[in-house]
Amino acid sequence: MSFAEYERLAEQHPDLAGTIQEVRKHLEKAGSNGLIRVHDVASFIGADPNQVRSVLEKLAANGLLGAEKMIECSHCSMAAHHAEFLRRHEEDGEYACTNCHRPLTHGAVRHLTAYRHQTEALTDILGPSAGAPARDGEPSQEVYCRVITHEGTSAIGVDAYKTWVARALEFDLFVDGVTRTPVLLVDGNSEVRKKLTPSEFAIVAEYMESRKITRPTATKVGSGKSTDTAGALFDNARRKVDIKVSRYEWTFFRRHKGVETVATAFEFAPPDGTSWCLIIPDQG
Ligand SMILES: [Zn+2]
Repeated sequence: MSFAEYERLAEQHPDLAGTIQEVRKHLEKAGSNGLIRVHDVASFIGADPNQVRSVLEKLAANGLLGAEKMIECSHCSMAAHHAEFLRRHEEDGEYACTNCHRPLTHGAVRHLTAYRHQTEALTDILGPSAGAPARDGEPSQEVYCRVITHEGTSAIGVDAYKTWVARALEFDLFVDGVTRTPVLLVDGNSEVRKKLTPSEFAIVAEYMESRKITRPTATKVGSGKSTDTAGALFDNARRKVDIKVSRYEWTFFRRHKGVETVATAFEFAPPDGTSWCLIIPDQG
């Protein structure tokens, strides 16, 4: 994210210069993950919410942030997309909060505009975790990671890796094991999701690579764990890399219901026509 653009904005709006400065520092520190909400930022930096709202609106108008129409649960403040809220009410006639499970009726939600980092933020999160970059003019030949997509697999160096990361928004699902920060296309908008833990990445990568119907306890990272523990690991991971369609149905990870004592299994089954990319860092 460009420092110069913030400077220019501060010059254009001298009355907001102090808040712009604080918001910039906060967004840098907070990183590129997840939603940016006016009240969260305001309380964090101790600024007037109206000023913060005004700054975020201007950043969005300049293309530095993307704006999204959201609702939040008035009980626990869990956020959801407004479009999803309307769609679920229309299709299912009800919609429960994914956090506190209270029914989200029209009267039980607050409407708000939330913000997210745009594309440039992705190259920022690459930062130090991308390892030592090749020196100028000297492309690195060493294998840095493996790229697995709907079209095939290849082993690539660090420079090629950066090219793939720059293309993250072209995919419906982009799971990068270097940053462990998934990016999804949801209703035409890119969502940078919460960072996966190393175990969450491992279980997601195993499903995406094997394409087999597997119980969470039968994965490498889930073996030796109880059905509940391995299942919870899978659930938490899936929440970050998939889009929920209905109670048991998700877009990319298909459920194979357990029978009696046999636990539920899952399969990475991307719908026809979707594009996806998995990057697995080289272990060597
Ligand atoms: Zn709630």
